[in-house]
This record gives sequence, structure tokens and C-alpha cells, in this order.
Amino acid sequence: MARVAFIGLGNMGGGMAANLAKAGHDVRAFDLSADALERARLAGCLPAEDAAGAIKGAEAIVTMLPAGKHVDSVYSETVFEHADPAAILIDCSTIDVDTARRVAEAAQARGLLAVDAPVSGGIAAANAGTLTFMVGGTEQGFARAEPFLADMGKAVIHAGASGSGQAAKVCNNMLLGAEMIATCEAFVLAEKLGLDLQKFYDIASVSSGQSWSMTSYCPVPGVGPESPADRDYQGGFAAALMLKDLRLAMEAAANACADTPMGARAAELYEEFVAQGHGAKDFSGIIQRLRDQKVG
Ligand code: NAD
Repeated sequence: MARVAFIGLGNMGGGMAANLAKAGHDVRAFDLSADALERARLAGCLPAEDAAGAIKGAEAIVTMLPAGKHVDSVYSETVFEHADPAAILIDCSTIDVDTARRVAEAAQARGLLAVDAPVSGGIAAANAGTLTFMVGGTEQGFARAEPFLADMGKAVIHAGASGSGQAAKVCNNMLLGAEMIATCEAFVLAEKLGLDLQKFYDIASVSSGQSWSMTSYCPVPGVGPESPADRDYQGGFAAALMLKDLRLAMEAAANACADTPMGARAAELYEEFVAQGHGAKDFSGIIQRLRDQKVG
């Protein structure tokens, strides 16, 4: 078992660090929040005084931070200075592709091995150790990171070179955002056409309109397996986080000159939904906005 540094013990990182400790690793944890540090201690990690204290002597350094600017500053101010030259640097945060590539290049210039490894799956999957990791980096980086990621997830997939993990993540979540809105609008139209929503689900879930948003995460209460819709859209994947991912997708699309009209519309609708004060609601709650919208 190895010594692992874990920086960023929030909603996701807290459970992930706990799973590394449960797997037998010596986890040295750091977060700016004292409460998060205390939770990590109770979960079997050793709280560090500062990021440098966690990083020194670690074989693997995992970061799970809010956004690109946090990753940039933690890497440039602490990781690069204090990391053991043989350590593997694993950033699991969801950040923009350009920052991910820049961080990996800066690591390489210092002779360090780094991968981007964003996750699919929310807080429940982070706690249960059933995340999916999409990894960007060299074969060697992937081979070094894989055993640590396997202790926190159910699937670890090498997406390609540096930044590819983030690229896969933004494409997946752009698809999810647009698919959820399309699923919601189909249910709203079905309702307005007088269809029983359970009947519509029974038909569409075994027809060509089927999707994950319908059959695993149905936005209609009482229809399909249990989902945030059954809890008044509390918990789950916050609309504000979906908006963050859609903004990253739009930034990536602009940089790559890719035409993404459905992703752009999904981003607009989530911008509106979040601006109306619903950022903390599950992202499937956008069905309420579509239902309430008066047309014609
Ligand atoms: P969070 O805000 O709960 O946690 C982030 C943690 O980082 C906080 O505890 C904060 O104190 C800490 N932090 C910030 N700057 C720091 C610094 N300089 N040094 C040490 N700690 C610092 O966020 P989260 O929900 O855990 O999400 C983390 C990442 O995972 C984000 O990039 C998010 O987009 C991604 N993600 C989240 C979910 C989800 O469902 N929450 C799902 C998939 C991916």
C-alpha cells in the first residue's frame, strides 16, 4: 500500500479519500476547510497542516478541486515544488481542457508524470467507490494512476493523451444536458397531449426514444426507478454543476470550431434555470421550467 496525498475533500473528494484509506493506503489529506479535514480524519485519513505537508513523500498526489483556477494554483504553488520526482499526479477535478493540457505540460517540463482523470457519477458514487474515471495522459501515466483510481471506482478508462479525460467528460456531459432537456420536453408534450405519463414511459423506454435520462434518472416523480424527481429534485447532480460543465463544453467547442447547437441551447436553458434561483436543484428539475413555460 502507498502513501497518497489527497487535496480537496469536498462533496466528492471526501468520499474518494475515504475509499483510498479503506483500501489500506496511508492518506495524507488537506483542504482549506477545517470541517472537511475533520471528516477526512474520521474516515481514516491523516489531516495535514497544509498542502505541502500532504504532498511531501507521497507516491500519488490526487486533487479534487472546484475548477481550473484552483488546480492551476495548487499545482503551481505547491505540487510542483514539493512532489517527489517519482510521484504520479492525478487531477480528478472537472476543469477546462486547456488548463488540463497546460498543467500536464508544466509537469512534464519538470520531469513529473501527470494525468487528468475526471469522473462520472455523483456524490453517492464517490462514497460507494463506484465512479467512472476517464483518463488523459501517457500509457505510463495511465499505468501508474490506474491502481489508485480502481480503489475509488468501478471503471477506469484511458481516453488518450493529456486533456483527453476532460475532453471525454465535457462531451459526455454536454450530451447528458441536452438529452435531459429533450427527455423533459417529451414528457411535458406527452402530458399536454393527454397521455398518461406512466404509459408514455412504458412505451418510450422500450422504443427508440429511450435514454439514460429516461430509464435511469426519470425527471417525472413516480415514474421509472427512484430518482431526484421523487425527492422534489433535491440531492443528485445540481443544475449549477451541469451549467458549469456545459460552459466548459461551449468553451471547448469554440476553441475547436465545433458546431454544437443542441449543447448551446442546453447551456442557455440551464443559464436561465440557475439565474432563476434553481442552481441547487437536481438538473432534472428543469422539467418544471418547461412545464410552466407558456407558449403561444
Ligand atoms: P466541493 O466544492 O464540494 O469541494 C471542493 C473542495 O476543494 C472544497 O472542500 C474546498 O474547500 C476545497 N478547496 C478549494 N481550493 C482549495 C485549495 N487551494 N486547497 C485545498 N482545498 C481546496 O466540490 P465537489 O462537488 O467535491 O466537486 C469537485 C470537482 O468534482 C469539481 O470539479 C466538480 O465539477 C467535479 N464533479 C462533481 C460532481 C458532483 O456531483 N458534486 C460530480 C462529478 C464531478
